[in-house]
Amino acid sequence: MDYLPVFLRVSDQPVLVVGGGDVGLRKAEWFLKAGARVTVVAPELHAELARYARNGDLRHAEGEFSPTQLTGVIAAVAATDDRAVNMAVSAAARERGIAVNVVDDPELSTFIFPAIIDRSPIIVAVSSAGHAPVLARRVREQIEALLPGRLGALANFMGKHRRAVQRTLGRLARRAFWERVVDGPVATRVLEGDEDGAERALRSELLTSQLTSAAGTGGSPIGEVYLIGAGPGNPDLLTLRALQLLQQADVILYDRLVGEAVLERARRDALRIFVGKESGERGQQERIHELLVKHAREGRKVARLKGGDPFIFGRGGEEIEVLNAHGIPFTVVPGITAALGAAAASRLPLTHRRLARSVTFVTGHVSDGALPDWRFFANPAHTVVFYMGVAQLPGIIARLRAAGATGGHPAAVIEQATLPGQRVLRGTLSDICALASAQHTEPPALLVVGAVAALAGADALSALATASSTGALA
Ligand code: SAH
Repeated sequence: MDYLPVFLRVSDQPVLVVGGGDVGLRKAEWFLKAGARVTVVAPELHAELARYARNGDLRHAEGEFSPTQLTGVIAAVAATDDRAVNMAVSAAARERGIAVNVVDDPELSTFIFPAIIDRSPIIVAVSSAGHAPVLARRVREQIEALLPGRLGALANFMGKHRRAVQRTLGRLARRAFWERVVDGPVATRVLEGDEDGAERALRSELLTSQLTSAAGTGGSPIGEVYLIGAGPGNPDLLTLRALQLLQQADVILYDRLVGEAVLERARRDALRIFVGKESGERGQQERIHELLVKHAREGRKVARLKGGDPFIFGRGGEEIEVLNAHGIPFTVVPGITAALGAAAASRLPLTHRRLARSVTFVTGHVSDGALPDWRFFANPAHTVVFYMGVAQLPGIIARLRAAGATGGHPAAVIEQATLPGQRVLRGTLSDICALASAQHTEPPALLVVGAVAALAGADALSALATASSTGALA
């Protein structure tokens, strides 16, 4: 280890930055953020630095560096593009035992600035000891993606209750308590911005801890459920929140639409349970409800991972009814629904100023007949996306035609959207069925009808002419 990572308190301490350009600016800003009394030595200042100086945030020592400026200073930075000056600052500082950083020159430095993630009071610093700053920044980005945006709020929340918990629980119980706070519903609530809910969860957690530590048992943690939308299949389309929770889950209940590529982003040692429903299989939804309740009751963090969005044809609504009925805390993370994934992946705008002003997502299970207004769907200025429609294709098209849609009404079928096997078929109501069967289209696939469907998977400009000729919003 070439450098010892420490966090230095510089608030109200004098520091010196030599160099008034943009590098000097960045270093001065870090010092200002941490509350230091900054002096910048330079013949001239960068406009931003000059603004800080005018506002009285820092002091400008106009002119060249002189070693006497180091008197009383606790840290110095040399950020000039003149190596001789940088060397002079480094030598003078080291002679006086003052910590010094020379930008881009680890040899001349006794301290370095790490790449920082600031979720104050939580701060993460990453350093490559000057060997590979670009790599250090990339590591920082990767860590940053895993850290919830409201992590600082969580730290403050815990800080606020520290004393009270200290008074209430013994040392061992306390540690177990805080671990449950960090891993459980209390943290989930704070990270969602629901401080009231968090207070309630904390009180109930504290009560459980008191009772169980009085009874001399280990204390059973409260489990919870994360209802997570996994998006259309490509793991890069998972949300940051989905990734964070997938890293925490003890158990993962996943569907047929959730592929291996998505599961790979989950915690390695989580228990994975496949709960995919084959069409028409009875009792499977009940089994899912039982598993959710059972594992959460036993104190586990259960991720219910669904393709697309949990609340779009995902039966998420029924699952939260069950969780509510059993008093199990849960959180819902939206996912990119298949229609949005397919639209982006096939360059098909679902609405378009000249072509379509509205869009509907419909289940393609039209056989039950209880479906909405087909005449509305038959208007090409309205986009309709049919989910689960492959087997139903002929039925859907017959109904659209019966409701007045023309044979030339644009239609597209998008199969395995966002996945490596994605295929886009573009046609019209007269030929899309034949195209799909010739190409052996298989689920999962979506049917899109409406003027915009003519844009699917095509060079947008030339297709726009075709789409406009259908007369939508012309
Ligand atoms: N909750 C999911 C939908 C579940 S219903 C969501 O929000 O996307 C299942 C149907 O979604 C499939 O039959 C298919 O029509 C559609 N679907 C899901 N993933 C898809 C994909 N990658 N490509 C095309 N269609 C998809």
